[in-house]
Parts: sequence; structure tokens; C-alpha cells
Amino acid sequence: MHMLSRAYRLAYLAWHTIGQARYPFGPLERIVSDRDRHVRQMVAYAYRWAPYYRETLDRLGLTPADINTADDLRRLPLISAADLQAEPHRFISRQFAPEALWPHHSGGSTGRPHTVWHDRRAIWLSVAHGERETSLHRRVVGQLRRLRVLRLHSPVSSTPTQHAFWPQWGADRRAAGLPPVSMADTTETILAALDARQPDVLNAYGSVLGHLFADAHRRGLAFAPPTMVRYVSDALPDAVRRLLNETYGIAVFSAYQAVEALKLGFECEAHCGYHINADHYAVRIVDEAGDDCPPGVVGEVVVSNLLTRGMVLLNCRLGDRAAWATAPCPCGRNLPLLRLAAGRNIERLYGTDGQPVSIVTFQPPLRNDARIWEYQVTQHALDHISVALVLAPGAAEREVAADLRRGLRAVLGQDMRIDVCPAAELQRTGAGKLRHVIQEVAAPEA
Ligand SMILES: [Zn+2]
Repeated sequence: MHMLSRAYRLAYLAWHTIGQARYPFGPLERIVSDRDRHVRQMVAYAYRWAPYYRETLDRLGLTPADINTADDLRRLPLISAADLQAEPHRFISRQFAPEALWPHHSGGSTGRPHTVWHDRRAIWLSVAHGERETSLHRRVVGQLRRLRVLRLHSPVSSTPTQHAFWPQWGADRRAAGLPPVSMADTTETILAALDARQPDVLNAYGSVLGHLFADAHRRGLAFAPPTMVRYVSDALPDAVRRLLNETYGIAVFSAYQAVEALKLGFECEAHCGYHINADHYAVRIVDEAGDDCPPGVVGEVVVSNLLTRGMVLLNCRLGDRAAWATAPCPCGRNLPLLRLAAGRNIERLYGTDGQPVSIVTFQPPLRNDARIWEYQVTQHALDHISVALVLAPGAAEREVAADLRRGLRAVLGQDMRIDVCPAAELQRTGAGKLRHVIQEVAAPEA
């Protein structure tokens, strides 16, 4: 029985993978019509099975027939992680028994911790859609075979299904007998695993990869570089991306994933942003009033997941900041292109006048300085911050600190006390993510 169901799953996966590599290059009209058909199906499903949507449509005097396209989703209110955390049962489909659903937990470091329940069909179709990204990785690596992937596990990942279920199980099976490598392992341990396994692709959080390679380079440690690194979840500092490309010849690709939207988007060879899998994820960028931002203008990412029925998520705010690209991608893919602004909107400091300053505003002097590889800002008081830095080799601490104080005071106030402390290691969350901001000051306006 077990073998039969596994054979069935593999056949199902193979069937749904056909055509995925070409899909992003197909006509935009087809992507839009697929998206709108999926909107109609999901709204009808939501109305039938998820209490929140039935109540909301009834309250607004709408029926599922009133929502025909992704544009019509604007007629429904926005929801957020706080809603999912407070009343998850209102969004979970009554069609499924609890044990039929697979929980995915948010890290919590980037917002309020919450859980999204995906059904098996959505997870398997997401695996199949991964082929849109993996096919381009195979071309970059120059291999037609299945890629050898070394995935650094999150030390506290509370989602065992991801380990058991995602395509990694192929890689994990081949690596059977070899100990798993965690993002919390030392640089030496991870480099030894790279030497021993020689993967095509090393997969981890951006901040973990940033620390790993910056540390290896600073200490002159030798290792067999993978052909490619792929990161998700948080940013890889630009200076480290250059180091990987130029010094080690490693190609760098990123994917845009969230617990609310498993395969939201991926970076292509043109490295211009993320192509959104818009046929399955209807994405909007909205301003503070909830109105759509024109291309090029940064706003908050709002996603409607048209695939997951376990927990129905329409108009869900992700907390990420991004803008639509103003020009089509030169790669020829017609999936819409999104540029993610660094940092989540909860990452903010306060100026000495008590006004919030978003990470988008204060980050440039930290992010654009090639001498700075990693950073973490802690705000102790309205007029006092400290900045921990991991510096590039040979960078003069005193000069970096002076430039940084000048840059930060320009946006935070000239009276801001700024302690700059070079560090070998920055404080990470339990999940191994680097937090760029540690805010110790309660919101002054609250
Ligand atoms: Zn592209």
C-alpha cells in the first residue's frame, strides 16, 4: 500500500511537472486567464468551505459570482498574520479533517508567529511548480540530471513535513548515512560537508550564507565551492553576493517564499527581481491606505493564494515591501517581475524626534558600503543606537564607523548617539535568521 501510494504520488508529480519549465515564457494572456480562472474557483471554494469568507461576502452583499478576476479581489478586505493567529479556524477549510492538513509555521522573527495549513494537493502542485525554477538552475549548473542539493536545515524548524515532503527528500535519501547539516553548525562543519558532498547547489537562508562565506573568506579557509547557492527568507548582503560571484565564481539565486505562499516567486538569470507565479498567486502591492501602487513605487505585498485550500488566504498582507518592475525582464519570461525592498516593514528605528524611520530609509549607508558584510542595529533609547558590524578584511574600523555615523545621523537626527562595534558574530534568532534591527524602545506614539 505504501509503495502504491508512493508510485501514485510520483506519477502525479511527473504529470503536473510537464510543461512547467516553459510556462513562464508563455503568453501573458494565458497567465492572466489562468489566474482569473483560479480566482473564480478559489472564491467559490472559500465561500462554501471557509467561514470567514462566507461571512465576509454575505456582510458585503457579494456572492462568489461578483468576483471574476484578480482585480475583483479588491472588493474583499485585507487580512494579516494577526487575523490568522487570532482566529485560524475561520480561515481553515471545513472540508478537511485536521490530520489531512500539513502545518507550516512562520519563523516569527519577521512578524507574529502563526501557522498556515496546506492541503496535500497544494503541496504537491507546489513541488511541480518548482520545476519553473529548477529547470533554470539545471541550465546554470550545466546538468540535465537531477541536481545535487545540500540544504542547510533550520535548527528549530518546526515543520517536519517540509523535510519529509519537499523535493529535498530525494537529496536527503541520497545523503542517507551522512549527518544532516544545520544552519547553526560552525563554518568548519558546513565547509567540510561541502567538501565531502560537492553539491551543485547549497540552499539556506541569505543571512546564513552571508555569514558562512564572509567568515570563510576572512579566515582564508579553503573549500570546494558549489556551482550555485540558492537562498530564501532573508537578504544576502550585496557585498557578499559580489564576493561569491567574483571571488568564488558561485552563481547566486534567490527564491521568494512565505508560509502563506509556498512558491511565490523566483529569481531568473537576469537577476532583476522575482518572477511571481501569478497564475497561482495573485499579488498586489498596496500603499498604507490599501490602494494599489503603480510600478516602481514601493508598497506592501498582498497575496491571494489560489492553490491552497487547507487554509484559504485571499488578500493576505505578507509584511514584505516591494515594487513592481517598470520594464519587462530581458529573460523573456512573462511572469510579472517584483523587486523586493530589503527588510520587512516591522524593521524600523525611531529618530531622535520620535518619528519612525523605516529600514528602507536608514539602510543605504549600511547596505551600500562594500566594507560592511553584515550588520545589526539595536536601538536602546530614542537618542541611542548601537551598530554591530562584520567588516570585510582590511576595512579600517575607524573610517567605516565615521562614515556610518555621518550617514545614519542624516536620517535619524544629528544628536543620535551611535556606538559602532565590529563583531565576529551577530545575534541570530532561534531559526538562524539574522535580524537587522533589534528594537528595545516601545513605540513612542503608542
Ligand atoms: Zn527574468
